[in-house]
Amino acid sequence: MLTADFSTRTHMNEQITAAAIGQTVTLAGWVAKRRDHGGLIFVDLRDRTAIVQCTFDPDASGDAFKLAETIRPEWVVQVTGTVRKRPEGTENPQMITGEAEVVVTELEVLNRANTPPFEIEDETDTDELVRMQWRYLDIRRPAMTRTLELRAKVTAAFRRALDSLGFIEVETPILCKSTPEGARDFVVPSRIQAAKFYALPQSPQLFKQLLMVGGIERYYQIARCFRDEDLRADRQPEFTQVDIEMSFVSQDDVMQMMEQVMAEVMAAAGRELTAPLPRMTYADAMDTYGSDRPDTRFGLELVDISDVVAGSEFGVFAGAVKAGGVVKAINAKGGGSFARSRIDALNQLAIDSGAKGMAWIVFTPEGEVKSPIAKFLSSDEIAAMRERLDVEPGDLLVFGADTRDVVNEVLGVVRLALAEELAIERTGDALLWVVDFPLLRRDEDGGGTQGGEGRWAATHHPFTRPFDDDLSKLETHPGEVLSYSYDLVMNGYEIGGGTLRNHTAEVQRRVLAALGIADEEASEQFGFLLQALDSGAPPHGGIALGLDRLVMLLAGYESIRDVIAFPKTSSGADAMTGAPDALDSRQLKEVHLRVN
Ligand code: ASP
Repeated sequence: MLTADFSTRTHMNEQITAAAIGQTVTLAGWVAKRRDHGGLIFVDLRDRTAIVQCTFDPDASGDAFKLAETIRPEWVVQVTGTVRKRPEGTENPQMITGEAEVVVTELEVLNRANTPPFEIEDETDTDELVRMQWRYLDIRRPAMTRTLELRAKVTAAFRRALDSLGFIEVETPILCKSTPEGARDFVVPSRIQAAKFYALPQSPQLFKQLLMVGGIERYYQIARCFRDEDLRADRQPEFTQVDIEMSFVSQDDVMQMMEQVMAEVMAAAGRELTAPLPRMTYADAMDTYGSDRPDTRFGLELVDISDVVAGSEFGVFAGAVKAGGVVKAINAKGGGSFARSRIDALNQLAIDSGAKGMAWIVFTPEGEVKSPIAKFLSSDEIAAMRERLDVEPGDLLVFGADTRDVVNEVLGVVRLALAEELAIERTGDALLWVVDFPLLRRDEDGGGTQGGEGRWAATHHPFTRPFDDDLSKLETHPGEVLSYSYDLVMNGYEIGGGTLRNHTAEVQRRVLAALGIADEEASEQFGFLLQALDSGAPPHGGIALGLDRLVMLLAGYESIRDVIAFPKTSSGADAMTGAPDALDSRQLKEVHLRVN
């Protein structure tokens, strides 16, 4: 609890309850509101903890009354007065201070304030950009203050839990050598070494591994990470990870440790976690939910009907199966009442997500089957679908027919849209592990630092350890190799991810080779790591949790900007300070740069 110690006041606002009645108190804070009422002036005084009603009476308050007439919202004031019970009928049961008020005898204006550009209230429809330009005013809103408090509580719980398990917090450098982790690096020019650049860490990945080689055995850090990616609601160019690494562990050990720590963190946030958490393989998650971070708070599962339609007259279905692909369907229960325009919008979403189109069937409440493809489907096929997907009158079936990957991906997106459309209630916290990711994936867009269209890229990062049993396939069937890997998923968000690492230089070199990094290049880029692995590296593994995302979910927000004190806008700018900004020519020259 925040106390009034070390300050000029005697109490914090939240202490001004019925228990304080009769006491003389000194409070300080900001003027939230001033109301003049029939000879009395009421000032709502806000501090970090609460709002207190301060009453100025021309008789009791003396000179303070005159001064109170001049004060305005957001002025900084200190008041001294007596706490009394609010007159009958004027209590406010919504507020912890709602039974009491302070009759002021002394008022001191500590600072004045310009009229703020928006009202400092929890409910705000102020444009987010304006809130970011005046972030310090935005932070005064009690809802923001509470969020930052929650964030601090969560961070402290991580530290407490990890400290008690013998983890050591170690800081790692911010000025680093560029290492490929899948995203683009932010770079910093060196002044002392012309034409050389540091990269900001995408995560402390290699350093934490080197700490394991250094014998630290259990490491953690509340680490700032930097990735130069296009921004979304749940992405910022700089974000915070709870970064963890352990030696002499199995995948199960890391997951059990994490569950124990998360139970303490969730408890600190007033939530509950029941260990052990459910586990699902990556393959099952993709097959059933079309996502490697499934929101399991609702069904709408993807159901394979390839066998039902393999011989169908509907060429799109039969053709997909014949070509080695699949046909899957989702039963959008109750979606049979959707207007055609809503189904068309879902179709468009499927196309935008990579499908050629989205077939659908409406089962009307009257028992009719309505669909552009109905005439191509036999009554046996429809009966089999009804049974497999538990169809009732009023339901809507939507289909995907393509390669397995495309169908899963597309129906995964459609599934989430259907949950919105059907207004399916999603309550509680659904935490689960998704495990056994493929080591590699095709790098379709060629983005990131692992570049190259269609080349293999690391699913997690290049330091991930392949399943021992799959090692023999690394050179021959790289796409089939699974890895010791685990993502922690909460309510459809990946809140953490980790892997066991390659602790022998030999396997690490083979993985790098599979990524198209030949021996010579590997030595050049990763010489320090390979040397460390050859210097007695213990088996090790770890995990990193996205602190911003976790706090966002716990606080009930949809953007991580809401849980970061000073976030960047979607164009990567700091709306308040104006970063990024141009440098003057002298500064540029110092770092040996010329810009056009
Ligand atoms: N460094 C990884 C990441 O940032 C997490 C890990 O493997 O520990 O995703």
